Amino acid sequence: KVKKLGGDGYEIYNEDINHAIKQEQEIENSLYHALENKEFYLVYQPIVDIRTNQIVGNEALLRWDNKDWGHIPIYYIIELMEKKGIIVDVGEWVLTEACRQNKLWQDKNLGDFKVSVNLSPLQLEDMGFMDKIQKALELTELDPKYLELEITESSAMTNVKDKLEQIKKLKNMGIKISIDDFGTGYSSLSYLTQLPIDTLKIDRSFVKDMVSDGNAKAIISTIITMAKSLNIKVTAEGVETEKHLEMLKSMECDKIQGYLVSRPLKPEILESLLKQL
Ligand code: C2E
Ligand code: MG
Ligand code: MG
Ligand code: MG
Repeated sequence: KVKKLGGDGYEIYNEDINHAIKQEQEIENSLYHALENKEFYLVYQPIVDIRTNQIVGNEALLRWDNKDWGHIPIYYIIELMEKKGIIVDVGEWVLTEACRQNKLWQDKNLGDFKVSVNLSPLQLEDMGFMDKIQKALELTELDPKYLELEITESSAMTNVKDKLEQIKKLKNMGIKISIDDFGTGYSSLSYLTQLPIDTLKIDRSFVKDMVSDGNAKAIISTIITMAKSLNIKVTAEGVETEKHLEMLKSMECDKIQGYLVSRPLKPEILESLLKQL
């Protein structure tokens, strides 16, 4: 909110800041109880193979349904939960819930697709992480080949030696690994030759600019070429138009995700769509 600063402009400014801080604290307090109050739920966004047009995965995305703070963007909520460490428990719930849902869809024979789960860097740093993964798979009886974990470039690159060990273990369990928002980090590309990654997800900012900006297009094309030579698949995020799809096809991108295919959907809605396929 822009306020005209009068003679006592400083006070108005301070009041706004105080208000913002107070509000943030109130949101945090609500978040501490959100898990037990069952206020979280997941929506799922399909990932489609560009050649076969089949759904090959669904990304689980967290949503928070709170009566007081209904419309806050989830990345802000996640940032707050990371600051408070709540994300570790919430992330475990996400993991289990996503596995449970995909197992249910597998049992109903609705398709041979994976479920992708976003991981916070804090979850990867958590000592109990591997056990939690194991527990989620055992509890839900989901075949590990149906689980894909999305980690960001920067979180893969901190304590890279530990991460390499961790990712190798996950791979040995049969779990798939993708690097989310690829291209936005500042890391060297050499790590790609060391980490056993299945998929790079090109950040949607490049896709968005691709049509008007030759540089963005060149970056995407370069990522695809590089990934191919490293035997890594590429998913383009944020595909919104037929033009995007056409260009990505011509560049031989493997998979797409975005509003052109579908927005993230509540499970019951996605399920009814899957039944019509
Ligand atoms: P992300 O993992 O890169 O997820 C993709 C985001 O792009 C989602 O936003 C999705 O709704 C949005 N999106 C998909 N297609 C399009 C499109 O065509 N156009 C546009 N403009 N946007 C599109 P969302 O759901 O708001 O999530 C934002 C971020 O929050 C995620 O980015 C992810 O980093 C994080 N996040 C979401 N759920 C979780 C979770 O369970 N755990 C963790 N750690 N992070 C999560
Ligand atoms: Mg993601
Ligand atoms: Mg992403
Ligand atoms: Mg993103």
